[in-house]
Amino acid sequence: MNKIAIAVHGGASENYSFLREHQQEFALGLAKATEMGYEVLDKGGSALDAVEEAVGILEDNPLFNAGRGSALNSRGEVEMDASLMDGKDLQAGAVSMVRTVKNPIRLARLVMEKTRHVFLSGYGALELAKKYGMEIEAESYFITPYQYEVYQKLNKIETMEEIQKKKMKGTVGAVALDLQGNLAAGTSTGGISNCLPGRIGDSCVIGAGCYANNATCAVSGTGEGEYLIRGVVGHTISMMMEFDMPLQEACDYVIHERNKKLNGEMGIIALNQMGDFGISFNTEIMKRAWKSSSREIQIKLFD
Ligand code: ASP
Repeated sequence: MNKIAIAVHGGASENYSFLREHQQEFALGLAKATEMGYEVLDKGGSALDAVEEAVGILEDNPLFNAGRGSALNSRGEVEMDASLMDGKDLQAGAVSMVRTVKNPIRLARLVMEKTRHVFLSGYGALELAKKYGMEIEAESYFITPYQYEVYQKLNKIETMEEIQKKKMKGTVGAVALDLQGNLAAGTSTGGISNCLPGRIGDSCVIGAGCYANNATCAVSGTGEGEYLIRGVVGHTISMMMEFDMPLQEACDYVIHERNKKLNGEMGIIALNQMGDFGISFNTEIMKRAWKSSSREIQIKLFD
């Protein structure tokens, strides 16, 4: 039997008190997304379906910074980014500046499958969501007490430089391998707390926070989006594999060696067609879980 496998992440970050207080709930959230995604694969569903399912579950979970529970920008608004990619044919879909759409990852898939574009933003993405009857929620649905508290605290800090030093972030993502041997990746985020309105991170940038190619690997990233974009992290890991570097080595090289100069805080989960996982991060925390047909579920928040 061919191998099936899935890994999910709930963001790379510093160790923060909200996480310490809710470790159990975070672990349960990761477990649920992994198991539900795995179930899709187990029933013969595609890697793309599994990724959409797992990321959608994390978007609905208010603990994670994506969908409900998204970080607020400096105007106290939620603007979300998401993308997914199919390693079979290199098809991809991405959305940014999305407001009120319950599941941006599902909208990214609509962009991929129902339009001739890869990337839609703002009002155009919202129009597409409405055209296809996607679930829309009031702005208040997305704002959790925790994220509002973070917003208010950061709002008291005067300069944008100081706010950026706080690095309040988070993201969710998944990579999967299906029975047909296809890989897929998906990533979704509310971005960075108190960022400028209109700021776009790596999670919706194909090649940065999301990349999949059956010939190499599927990658979902998290961390300081500006660095993941400049380092073209997802695609670079894939390229290193094209040049025959093993998966885990390629992940470590990109996160620890190649990133040394810029020193952005980041983490990635990756998967190849053999069902091998690659996980690498240079932060204190990387919320993650993974499971395959030859391995029971593993869940980790810290090292
Ligand atoms: N990469 C995300 C962004 O920059 C945030 C994160 O993953 O923590 O929008």
